[in-house]
Amino acid sequence: MKFKAVARETVILDPQDNMKGKRIPSEIRRDPLTGRSARICHFMKLNWEKPDFDALIAGTEAWCPFCPGKVMTVTPKFPSDMVPEGRMTADDLVLFPNLAPYDSVGAVATLGTRHFISMTEITPDFILKGFDLAMRFFQRVEDIGHSESVYHLINWNYMPAAGSSLIHPHLQVFASSQAPNLLRQELEAAKAYMEREQSNFWDDLVSHETDKDERYLGKIGRTHWLTSYAPMGVAGDVLAVTENISSTLELTEQDLADICDGLTCAMRAYDEMGIYNFNMNFFCGARGDDFTRFHLLFSPRTFFNQALGASDVGAIRNLYNETLCMAFPEEINTMLKPAFDA
Ligand SMILES: [Zn+2]
Repeated sequence: MKFKAVARETVILDPQDNMKGKRIPSEIRRDPLTGRSARICHFMKLNWEKPDFDALIAGTEAWCPFCPGKVMTVTPKFPSDMVPEGRMTADDLVLFPNLAPYDSVGAVATLGTRHFISMTEITPDFILKGFDLAMRFFQRVEDIGHSESVYHLINWNYMPAAGSSLIHPHLQVFASSQAPNLLRQELEAAKAYMEREQSNFWDDLVSHETDKDERYLGKIGRTHWLTSYAPMGVAGDVLAVTENISSTLELTEQDLADICDGLTCAMRAYDEMGIYNFNMNFFCGARGDDFTRFHLLFSPRTFFNQALGASDVGAIRNLYNETLCMAFPEEINTMLKPAFDA
């Protein structure tokens, strides 16, 4: 397993210091699995100003389709061959077809009746209820022998900077035979790794990171939490890898509860930096893909300029898929660790 990094240095004449020469370091890292490159640069203190949430949210409840009173009338229903009751519910959570599908088997699950819940108010149980409902949906799709019941994926865009068009918390839940880009690249690379090394990349990664202890965050149940070596997010990514299993349907109730615990640790830590938006994606194999392991990424999102609403995804990321991270992942690890040790 190789952790490649190329150090770079730029020299500028600094206008803030009488045009004296200033050396600015950066680093180009390669993801040890896929070889995807990630730049560690634009170093800044990971500290953002949180907005006035009351002002941000004001008025959005009035038109929110996921609020009580509307969710059971304005959201679509599944045809009876997939979900005979139309929508699936659990307590105050509702799962229904995605009105804007990007694959044939896609759902949205609201995470309860509360229109806004801040990142620090999110409890493990709050997330677990949503995951449980999504898992019930996946099981339905599996039980009817649907041809798309291969990769069972949960994505979470929390708050607008993460791509959510609604404040109301909800999950994107879909099953597909077509793995999305990065997942497919990972699966191909993990398969090649296993053929080459006669070993599972993810098992080797966990054992390397546990020994090295530069990016390791902790173990909850049989899930290991790490900061990514070559992160996608501007404030790093948190990676969770579950031992022994490859596919989503193999996750036990205890695994899900443990994952929810870890996610709230990540949320607590990033909240301290002023982060209040994130993406979370499942990365799984198909059943029997023993060359991979179930893992997920939690990636904080922010603005390059909050007042202008400037996205943290610019041309380099959008069109080259080259990522920028504003601190060394090993330093980010020390900022996150107390939340995982608590
Ligand atoms: Zn709402």
